[in-house]
Amino acid sequence: MNLIDRIVQFRAEIQAIRRDIHTHPELAYEEHRTSDKVAHLLKGWGIEVHHGLGGTGVVGVLRNGTGKRSVGLRADMDALPIAEANGFEHASKHAGKMHACGHDGHTAMLLAAAKYLAETRPFDGTVNFIFQPAEEGGAGAQKMIDDGLFEKFPCDAVFGMHNWPGLKVGQFATTPGPMMASGNRIEITVTGKGAHAAMPHLGVDPVFVAVQIVQGLQGIISRNKKPIDSAVLSVTMIRAGDAINVIPDTAVISGGVRTFEPAVTDLIEERMRRIAGLTAEAHGASAHVVFERYYPATINDPAQAAFAAGVLEEMVGAENVFPDYEPSMGSEDFSYMLRVRPGAYIFIGNGDGSHRLSGHGEGPCMLHNPSFDFNDELIPIGATFWVRLVEKFLAR
Ligand SMILES: [Zn+2]
Ligand SMILES: [Zn+2]
Repeated sequence: MNLIDRIVQFRAEIQAIRRDIHTHPELAYEEHRTSDKVAHLLKGWGIEVHHGLGGTGVVGVLRNGTGKRSVGLRADMDALPIAEANGFEHASKHAGKMHACGHDGHTAMLLAAAKYLAETRPFDGTVNFIFQPAEEGGAGAQKMIDDGLFEKFPCDAVFGMHNWPGLKVGQFATTPGPMMASGNRIEITVTGKGAHAAMPHLGVDPVFVAVQIVQGLQGIISRNKKPIDSAVLSVTMIRAGDAINVIPDTAVISGGVRTFEPAVTDLIEERMRRIAGLTAEAHGASAHVVFERYYPATINDPAQAAFAAGVLEEMVGAENVFPDYEPSMGSEDFSYMLRVRPGAYIFIGNGDGSHRLSGHGEGPCMLHNPSFDFNDELIPIGATFWVRLVEKFLAR
């Protein structure tokens, strides 16, 4: 692996920053301490800083030469509402909040690249360092776009990177086209008529109806969508009742739907409304369906994905790059940026968890797990990739 020596030299400094951010996690749109820190560091390295885009977002702008081309590199800064199970020194000091998705590391890798690029300026054009708020369900990317991100800071292409547990350290993956799925939240409220549990004939049991609706919903996946189209529907909550001898008035079914194609999402929503409505009606109940599309699918531009893969192959060797990686059914709000600018999303291997310091939690080192920790070995690896990408995209 060809890492940039200078970045390896200052890794400890950036690692300390990463761990400090990990210790002080902040949830969506509350990333005040984190974004202040990012802005302060960028300024200190001589980078022009714009603070407050999309609430707590930060954009650093670094220009060199006379070139008109520009590139956007994006990291996310928010943490999750999870109680950290790790007990090592840099574990979260904010109760119930944790960097369990590694956004502390994404911020650190981009900071390391910014520091090096500001020192050496090995490019001709403009680099926009985009630090976004609220990736975890808050659509912070869209908020920055609404605030004029790409008008104020034009980008010919934009790239994002996420650590990927399970991929080995030093390995990378991307893919031309769909990389991550759309995220859609479902909630179906079935309203029946409460009664004594011993006298069901005097009421309309919403629990009985809800269970039939849940069974019917999986039929959409297996019987209605084309078998080669990808989609997953998971009912993860059924809430009803407070007592064993009372039939409640309502039952609420909640969960999620993931797809890659808007037409498939449309089909699932349409079928879901019919199945819920007509099943409820058949039993004398009613169903109210909420189908909220919160994130679109993350679709890489094939040319930009190939460009990123080429940069990576030079850096870590073709045997460590998966340019046609299997898409994930998870979702990601970098999708909003890819809807308006060409670009690509890249996974960087976070390893198997053996990097975690002693005192870590019992759980696996997986995203959104309370025992997760970002692997600091990735700081020089990810930062070197960002730098090589800039050097090639904005070649002199
Ligand atoms: Zn996450
Ligand atoms: Zn994440």
